Amino acid sequence: MRALVITSGHGLEMTRRPKPRLSRPDQVVIRIVQSGICGTDRSVLIGKFPATQGTIMGHEAVGVIAEMGSQVTSVAEGDRVVINPTLYCGQCNPCMRGEWNFCVNKSGTEVGLDYDGSFADYMVLPCRFVHLIPDTMSSDRAVVIEPLACVLNNLEAGDVRATDNVSIIGAGPMGVLTAMLCRKAGATVALFDNDLARRELAEHILDFDNTPVQMFVESATMPSANVVFDTVGTQLETAMGIVADQGRIVVVGFNDKATANVAPLAILQRGLTIVGAGDYNGRIFPRAINLAEKLPLERLITHHFPLEDHSDAFDLLSATGTKHGYGAMKVVLTSSRETP
Ligand SMILES: [Zn+2]
Ligand SMILES: [Zn+2]
Repeated sequence: MRALVITSGHGLEMTRRPKPRLSRPDQVVIRIVQSGICGTDRSVLIGKFPATQGTIMGHEAVGVIAEMGSQVTSVAEGDRVVINPTLYCGQCNPCMRGEWNFCVNKSGTEVGLDYDGSFADYMVLPCRFVHLIPDTMSSDRAVVIEPLACVLNNLEAGDVRATDNVSIIGAGPMGVLTAMLCRKAGATVALFDNDLARRELAEHILDFDNTPVQMFVESATMPSANVVFDTVGTQLETAMGIVADQGRIVVVGFNDKATANVAPLAILQRGLTIVGAGDYNGRIFPRAINLAEKLPLERLITHHFPLEDHSDAFDLLSATGTKHGYGAMKVVLTSSRETP
């Protein structure tokens, strides 16, 4: 099969790999239809996020069950599924407590980083990490369910309610999804990004139900908000400037280089809460799938590329590449046709 593999120099290379086989009775082989490119994938390629050389990248996937082990009863051959890429062992202490997202045996199980992922024709997983999607749901909507699960996790951590004024820093896919979800919760939403192309894309994507989202070019002009999401991961100081007294700041974006200068006294005197939600627990997946039935997630997708054209796809996601600013929102790599 075809596979996009992480090379030693933070690159991606199209190679041929043997089609994965079932090695345990609880596993399934999934024929991948398509996968979204995540910010993390891009971070790996620019050396900002660790990944193991030789691993097949990709973790936001929709596919079809192609083969199944003898113990699998939750899905059947031909079923359309999305994958939950946050694998866990099920045996360690946190796992026994149901805190799968804090599994201590994550090494070798991070899909697309050190466990072969979905930028390929096929992948293999234990069946508890695949979830059925409704027949009526398009693959373009389904491919956004994994990032939606992540956003839902953060929204719940921020305890967003209809009465909240929410400010979101960063109008990339996570920022736009956060805006969609906060609006669905009834909150008033403001979105900030200093990149013009991203603002225009975000405005277009969010223009579907006559609910306005205020867009801001300068974070300094943003209205005070009782919940602030930093989807960039470097903007805690900015968030401290925007958040209202007794407000909540949710750190969403991953950046292992970011540090911040904050005054602890301000946190206590102003009664602020700073929240980190971490990885989602896999239990959130069925809820994300239900939610996806009511949200036009496919609007986020601006481009599809076949696996072979991966370098064009990643070029589009580079703010400093040949384009002036970001030329895309969600970019999807297509592995196979819906029906073979
Ligand atoms: Zn992702
Ligand atoms: Zn575990």
